[in-house]
Amino acid sequence: MTSGLASPTKPVKAAFSVCVYCGSRPGHAPEFAMMARQVGTWIGAQGGQLVFGGGHNGLMGIMADAALAAGARVVGVIPKALVEKEWAHNGCTELHIVENMHERKRIMAEHADAFLALPGGIGTLEEFFEVWTWRQLGYHDKPVGLLNLHGYYDGLLAFLASTVEQGFMSDWQMGLIRAGNDTVLLLQALVQAAGLTAPTVRLDQI
Ligand code: AMP
Repeated sequence: MTSGLASPTKPVKAAFSVCVYCGSRPGHAPEFAMMARQVGTWIGAQGGQLVFGGGHNGLMGIMADAALAAGARVVGVIPKALVEKEWAHNGCTELHIVENMHERKRIMAEHADAFLALPGGIGTLEEFFEVWTWRQLGYHDKPVGLLNLHGYYDGLLAFLASTVEQGFMSDWQMGLIRAGNDTVLLLQALVQAAGLTAPTVRLDQI
């Protein structure tokens, strides 16, 4: 089921489409909200499309609001159980209301040229690991990024390095993800790796 179809004033085809996974909570440090705003603003300023989990809470809502304010197409994909809890972001350009999490993740992936995980909790981690796993199995060939803002993912990246040292993962698998702490550089790298272009615009120029 789909509601809130594209507004006729917005371009139907965006320059690129990034699926962003992030926390349904804002986190404690103000830098997290700032970064979510930057991601949304950058996608909008570049004429891109944001695909996300369709919620209005936490970093998700902050990012979606910023993207909409910057003129992005924003595609939210949310299971009906979460809509019933009134967690949906009703300002999305498109809001897909789906039956379950499996359908949600499939539709999010289909709409994306690249994937990016921001800081988040169990939901964000699960989505990030799934899309990385799908990549290593060849289910898709889209770039996958991890925005390591404020050292949030330092511990996870150290653990992942240890899985290679201990023989459970390979350097090739690790090479399938791009981790970085610079929002714009990472977004540009993902868009370029997807074979698309985003103009070189710094956030302070937007
Ligand atoms: P978490 O990182 O645990 O806060 O979960 C965030 C991720 O899981 C998002 O990328 C969403 O796809 C999904 N999710 C979890 N909680 C919500 C919520 N309240 N509303 C919408 N999506 C959610």
